Order: sequence, then structure tokens, then C-alpha cells
Amino acid sequence: MKPLRDAQRDVLAAVQRLESVRVPVAEALGLALAEPVSARHDLPPFANSAMDGYAVIASDVAIAPVTLKVLEDVPAGSVPTREVVPGTAIKIMTGAPLPAGADAVVQVEDTDPGYDEVLIRIGAPAGTSVRPAGEDVAIGTQVLAAGERLTPARLGVCASLGYHEPLVGRRPRVAIMSTGDEIVPPNTPDLQPGKIRDANRFTLGGALEELGVSVIDFGIVGDDADELRARLAQAAAAADAVVSSGGVSMGEYDLVKALLSELGSVDFWKVAMKPAKPFAFGRVAGTPFFGLPGNPVSVAVAFEQFLRPALLHMMGAERLFRPRVWGVLEDAVETDPEKTVFLRVNVGSGADGRLTASLSGAQGSNILTALAAADALAVVPVGTAGLASGSLVELEMIRMEEARSAMEVIGG
Ligand code: AMP
Ligand code: MG
Repeated sequence: MKPLRDAQRDVLAAVQRLESVRVPVAEALGLALAEPVSARHDLPPFANSAMDGYAVIASDVAIAPVTLKVLEDVPAGSVPTREVVPGTAIKIMTGAPLPAGADAVVQVEDTDPGYDEVLIRIGAPAGTSVRPAGEDVAIGTQVLAAGERLTPARLGVCASLGYHEPLVGRRPRVAIMSTGDEIVPPNTPDLQPGKIRDANRFTLGGALEELGVSVIDFGIVGDDADELRARLAQAAAAADAVVSSGGVSMGEYDLVKALLSELGSVDFWKVAMKPAKPFAFGRVAGTPFFGLPGNPVSVAVAFEQFLRPALLHMMGAERLFRPRVWGVLEDAVETDPEKTVFLRVNVGSGADGRLTASLSGAQGSNILTALAAADALAVVPVGTAGLASGSLVELEMIRMEEARSAMEVIGG
């Protein structure tokens, strides 16, 4: 068996970064920057008011109440035309530029406006409610590094600094297909004996979409060499990577193996992991090919361990692996000491402030519902024959449902 680390290393070594392209910021979510983002101007670009109120000279209002003459009114988007001089104020809205002469803003709640004057009831020290130019980012500062993936907040940063078309790694196109004579489309009205509805194309397609990949669906392919050969060749020509599920374990091994060695160079690995031990990887007509096992949970685990890091690498992302955190396992488990074992678990917060992990259902590689309920994969390392309840375990967070623990608290 091939150690998981070695398999991951070999996969990463075999895939290459795609070229960089400029993409409208609105279409760049999830993509990795191929250039650093630096401030070409201060952000905010000018000193402005943090409140609706009156721009004043702080020393004028040090002893309040005091009445000041109002020179003009500056809404956001306008610029002041007057200078605040002793005894005067300028009415200002949030986001409007601070007028020359002023060094503080008194919020409107602390004033009594009159016709062309204002009573300042509570004074404000210099700097109050003023957002200096460059408070967030000073001109010239690097804010984001190449290799960082664009989250919603980072899209906002790009936009505010004028990176309306950031340079990013191109979005990979990934062809997916399900294989197996037993697999039928989900809209099949009456399941014939021996047939099952396709789950994998949807688990896989969804995971790929979440990653920011464009998915090309090559449907279901029967266990037939000619059909598979044709479909794989089409997929390899259309995509940056091809992913299939099923047909890589012992039963059909030989058929697919012979076919794949004819189309390209694909290795069949037995990776020391559970689930997802059988895994085929290589090239079909030059395109990276990932042959995942058929069991739905194996598909998800193989996606997490191989496909996701490989695609992130192709996208030019710097961080390829999900963060791991430690938690307390609440169930006792027996595991194969020769394999890295991934358990499907729910994550919560324990009374002592530590995270807890409990099995989200039965652990068979066909149990889709336990996967669907899981927040994390708990990682039991090689050399461990099991874990007692209460053991610390590493958790690879694959999905954290909003407010799971809060709902438990509210529910009693
Ligand atoms: P295989 O790797 O082809 O031997 O398949 C392993 C198991 O996964 C078998 O029980 C298959 O029926 C099941 N399986 C394969 N492909 C799919 C799929 N697309 N959706 C759901 N189950 C599948
Ligand atoms: Mg099969």
C-alpha cells in the first residue's frame, strides 16, 4: 500500500498551474490571485466623517454647550468649499470629506440644530468621528498576496483599490463521469432490479462548484470498454482534468486498467487510507485523470485528499489543504492500524470549551447519510488501532453548519 502522504505528493507533483487571466472582480470568487494587491491610493482616499454631525475645531467645543455658525452642508459624495474657522462648523454626513480647519466631528445626537447655527451640547476631543486618509490601508501597502483565494471580503478589497479585473489563476474545467452498469440517472422513475440512482456525479459536481471549478458533465458510462474509451477521450480533450467514479477496484480493474494504459499512462494505487483505498491516477491523452472508487463516501474522501488540493494547485492557490483542529472524540472506535482512517463526525463545542466530535452515522463507505450529516473528517493516523472515547483527534473541517451548537443551546 502507498502511504497517503506519498500519494498526495505524487498527485501534486503531476499537476501544473494553469495560466493566469484577468477576470472581472464580480466573477473572481474562489479564484487565487496571481498578483499581489497593493494600495495605489490611501484607503479611505481622504479623511472623512464617521458620523452624521458637525465638523468643528475641537478646541472650540472644549467647553460645551457652545453655539457655532454653520457655514455649509456637505453630503457624502460632495466636497466642502469652505474652511472651518473658530466659531464656525460645517454640517457633514457620514463618508463626506472632512473640511479644512476641522479636526473633529460632533455627532448630530449631541447637537441642537438651529437655522444657520448649531448648539453643540457635548464637545468632542480632536480626532473624534474622523476617519483619517489611509486609516485602513496606506498607499503602497500590500494587502493581499499572490496565491490567496478571493473570498467575498477580498473581492471587496480588490474593488476598493481599483483592481476591478484582478489577475487570477484560470478557472479549471473539470470533466466528471460516473461509471457502472448499475448506475441510472436520478430521474429514473422506476428502479429496475439491480440498478441504483447516480449519487457521485452530484456529490462530486457540487464539491467542484464550491471550489470554483467549472464542471463539464459527461454523464453515466456503462462498464463497457468501447463506451468508456470514447467518453474518456472526449472528456480529456474538453477539460483540464478528468474525474470518474467507480470501476477502479478489483472487480473491473483489468478492463479499465488495460483501457487506460492504451489511452495514456494511469497508475492504479492502493493507498493506505480508509475509505478510498483504490485510486487510479495519471494522464489520459495528456490530461490529468483521477479515477475515484465508486462508493459515495470514498468519492468524497478522495475528493478531499487528492482532487481538491490538486485543483487548488492548478488554480495557483498557496494553501492546498483544509485547516485541521483538535477535538475530543466522544465515541470509541476501532481502526485499521495500517491505514489513515477518516471518520465522518459532527463537531460541537464541549462544556470545557474544547471541540467535540461524534460519529455522524455508520462508517461504511456506502453510507451517504453519515457523510451528508458530517461537519468534519476525523483523522485517525497510521499506527493507531483505535481510539478510546475521550481521545484527542484531528478534525479536517469539511463543512460547518451554521449555528449547530447555538440551536442546541436554544433548544435546551
Ligand atoms: P465500484 O468501485 O465500481 O466497484 O463501485 C463500488 C460501489 O459503489 C458499488 O456498490 C457501486 O454500486 C457503488 N457506486 C458506484 N458508482 C456509484 C454512483 N455513481 N452513485 C452511487 N453509488 C455508486
Ligand atoms: Mg462499478
